[in-house]
Amino acid sequence: MRIDNLSHAILFSAEEGSGALPQALSLAQYILCSDKQDEGTACGVCPSCRKTGNAVHPDLHFIVPVNRSASLSSARQPVTDDFLDLWRSSYLENPGITEQEWYQKLEIENKQGAIGVAEAGNILRKLQFRSFDGGARVIAIWLPERMHPAAANKLLKILEEPSPGTYFLLVSHRPDQLLPTIRSRCMLVQVPSKERRPLPREAYLNLEKLLDLCFSGKPSGVLDWAEDMATLGRESQKAFMASALQILRQYYMVFLSLPSLAFLDAASLSTASRYASRMSETFFRRIYDRLNTATGQLERNVNGKALFCSLGFDFFLSLQR
Ligand SMILES: [Zn+2]
Repeated sequence: MRIDNLSHAILFSAEEGSGALPQALSLAQYILCSDKQDEGTACGVCPSCRKTGNAVHPDLHFIVPVNRSASLSSARQPVTDDFLDLWRSSYLENPGITEQEWYQKLEIENKQGAIGVAEAGNILRKLQFRSFDGGARVIAIWLPERMHPAAANKLLKILEEPSPGTYFLLVSHRPDQLLPTIRSRCMLVQVPSKERRPLPREAYLNLEKLLDLCFSGKPSGVLDWAEDMATLGRESQKAFMASALQILRQYYMVFLSLPSLAFLDAASLSTASRYASRMSETFFRRIYDRLNTATGQLERNVNGKALFCSLGFDFFLSLQR
């Protein structure tokens, strides 16, 4: 169990109607479970698990977009807690609930919902108190892209100084609309949509080749790998960077003992476990940064051979013990 390594802010990104919200809540169940299983799953039967399963755990807080409705005519800005029972029953009835379906439940006519600054204040107040069960607590934010900038800035302050045992799980359909400063504070989990196929096997090959060379301690092989990569077209090189980021995210989930969040079949999972067991937290942090920088360099037409050499050797050095 590596819950200590789990990032304090995780951004689940997925298309509308995907299972992102249930995925986030199954992670919440794991975080709050009082009898976590060795394979990185919640027990499913302890009182905590049952309460999370019914979305009524007192240490599981929800933030969802809301607005003034016919049933709530107060002058102050509405917050999720004003509609908590409605939200719970709507989610339990339809875990894949869409934004529009939620607004219909709220009966806010043609208005859109928002996450206002009052909501951020509400959460700040709650965080001043100890958790009910004395353990971890989870704040699940559905559609953070609906956050008012003032609310987002307040939230950012919390994310910058996370209190121990507090986990923010954000579920977004439009992560590009989030403040970049919020996005960069979160570990990103891309939830595959039901239609989209998993990455093709070929996407893994160039990365696995590099990893095998690094693990077998063959720097000359890394040089050959870089030369091969440099001969690929620019689009294939960009595709390599994108899939490498995605694959390393899968490995990272396995590394954190959260294989269910890697969304892999059994065969890919066993390969992922083999690689992840030889990686470290430092490796993941360093290589994410490197791959992102390298992607930017490709856009600027940096010399391919120099780029892949430097990337390859960064992998090599980060993986030596
Ligand atoms: Zn449990």
